[in-house]
Amino acid sequence: MNAEIIAVGSELLLGQIVNTNARFLSQQLAGLGVDVYFHTVVGDNPDRLKKAIEIAEKRSQIIIFTGGLGPTKDDLTKETIARHLGKELAMDETALASIEDYFKRTNRVMTENNRKQALVLAGSHILPNDHGMAPGMVLEQGAHIYMLLPGPPKEMEPMFLHYGRKALSPDGDSNEKIVSRVLRFFGIGEAALETEILDLIDAQSNPTIAPLAGDGEVTLRLTAKHVDETVAGSMLDDVERKINQRVGEFLYGYDNTSLLNELTKMLKEKKLTITAAESLTGGMFQKEITSVSGASSVFNGGVVCYSNEVKHQVLRVSAETLDKFGAVSEQCALELAENAASIFGADIGISFTGVAGPDELEGKPVGTVYIGIAIKGMPTAVEKLVLAGTREANRVRAVKYGCYYLIKKLKESQNA
Ligand code: ATP
Repeated sequence: MNAEIIAVGSELLLGQIVNTNARFLSQQLAGLGVDVYFHTVVGDNPDRLKKAIEIAEKRSQIIIFTGGLGPTKDDLTKETIARHLGKELAMDETALASIEDYFKRTNRVMTENNRKQALVLAGSHILPNDHGMAPGMVLEQGAHIYMLLPGPPKEMEPMFLHYGRKALSPDGDSNEKIVSRVLRFFGIGEAALETEILDLIDAQSNPTIAPLAGDGEVTLRLTAKHVDETVAGSMLDDVERKINQRVGEFLYGYDNTSLLNELTKMLKEKKLTITAAESLTGGMFQKEITSVSGASSVFNGGVVCYSNEVKHQVLRVSAETLDKFGAVSEQCALELAENAASIFGADIGISFTGVAGPDELEGKPVGTVYIGIAIKGMPTAVEKLVLAGTREANRVRAVKYGCYYLIKKLKESQNA
């Protein structure tokens, strides 16, 4: 099955909003094993929308529309589709009752054009809107499936997840269950990861394997279908095992977790405390760790040591180190991590020093980063990175690498 997403709305073409609906739907469809070959954006204009539908019908089996289901004059998605397909628009009494109920509950006056939102394509399957008024619709006609979804993401996303997905599953009428799992990787690029598992991706049908990259991380969404959910789960286990044999060293977690979450979990389990001395990252690591709930059991506090004075006076980095090697150096990262741990009485000290950019520092190029990791009872390690992103991206990436190295070190100490 292949699909095309048509986002309707002049504000998208004017650059006033970003087409996040297409992103969400593409990710969802990949999980269902449906290939998305085209994204189309068209303004609130019936002629141009009709042209977009005609083009989509020539190349795509499933056509998903978002937007233009509202009550105002410029909302004309369903009217245009009805005319194009020769369908009537009929009042859906359930949708109308829920719109009337909404106005009663919120003590607002319902206007005539609000009734328009309860008009649906005759013969379509209705997707209830649990977070707004306009219902969605699915209609099968000829070789195509047309799905109409509202524009606001807070209405569209739950509608698709709860009702739309089922309607698109090729065996939607059978009792087949769809089970998904997201594997999260760090420390390996998307291209390298794909190369390692290309034969598995090529051979995929059930489960499907969908890679996605962003923010220095790569994820693989595995999706299996089976009438028995437990069997679908073990199908995922099998393919995960094969993937792990090749790239398991880079796998750090599942589904919605993050590196910071996994690190905090690990520290809690091992009853270890951590502190940080941050120059390059200006407190980003500490901000992130304190946003994980329950972080207080592993983190008491740390230092943002941006200037050399603070590095020397507060964190006791020796004047000799700063003079001879500079603030962006292996020696400085080592002293920062060790001294922070000792000053704060923590089991672990982590430090970040480097050149975020845009200008070089101490003759060291932009993107040079040193991360110090001092773990009680282990020799202190300093990792050097050379990053190639913008100032902000380099800082974010450095925090992620810090977590990744620390998780790795803690695992090594566990296995030693
Ligand atoms: P409404 O009843 O709110 O009018 P609608 O289905 O008619 O809903 P639109 O009027 O097209 O949808 O868009 C309403 C709002 O939804 C937009 O102002 C925008 O904030 C959001 N929206 C619409 N399309 C998209 C999109 N493709 N991606 C992200 N947000 C969108």
